[in-house]
Amino acid sequence: MKIIFLGAPGSGKGTHATRVKTELGVPHISTGDIFRENIKGGTPLGVLAKSYIDKGALVPDDVVIKIVEDRLQREDCKGGFILDGFPRTIYQAEALKKIADIDVVINLVVDDEAIVKRVAGRRMCRCGETYNVAFLNGADTCAKCGGKLYQRDDDKEETVKSRLEVYHKETAPLIDYYRKEGLLKDVDGSQGIEAVYADILKVLK
Ligand code: AMP
Repeated sequence: MKIIFLGAPGSGKGTHATRVKTELGVPHISTGDIFRENIKGGTPLGVLAKSYIDKGALVPDDVVIKIVEDRLQREDCKGGFILDGFPRTIYQAEALKKIADIDVVINLVVDDEAIVKRVAGRRMCRCGETYNVAFLNGADTCAKCGGKLYQRDDDKEETVKSRLEVYHKETAPLIDYYRKEGLLKDVDGSQGIEAVYADILKVLK
């Protein structure tokens, strides 16, 4: 199955895509994760991406499209994949259409106020686990691996506001785009994590 997770930053795309990946046994492709790995590794792509990500702006379409095109050609994508954070513009969606037949687009719906709260409270571990300060009871290490938790630079409040503006201007038009294609399924992402996941599984059945 070829799935896209659509939604504002902090709507739960990464969290749920990780779970669906385990459920379906297909790769989870997060363009944001690819950029963060490159930033950590100090690659030329990382340096370029960082200059946009730190401002809350989008990395240029042609750069992202090339990365996704290459990734989707790999053997592990033959049986399907989950795209998380791509496409983010109509231009990217048009490019994707030429290289893959998407089965379903899951749109995680969460209002802006909740997004700002969620993202500002988000804490990450290097192992990939994600937490929220609201449920950490003051803990600052990962319950899974003991690693020190940290806040993504682009999760700071001022950057989140720019990311949300960019989302509404550039990415939200994809909701109508995929609705017209008959692929869009809305899921209420403001519910508790288990309820959201149950709704996603219903959509995928
Ligand atoms: P994410 O982890 O999906 O929130 O992505 C983090 C940042 O990476 C975004 O705010 C963008 O700057 C950049 N990024 C990720 N995916 C894309 C994309 N499809 N197009 C442009 N920029 C992207």
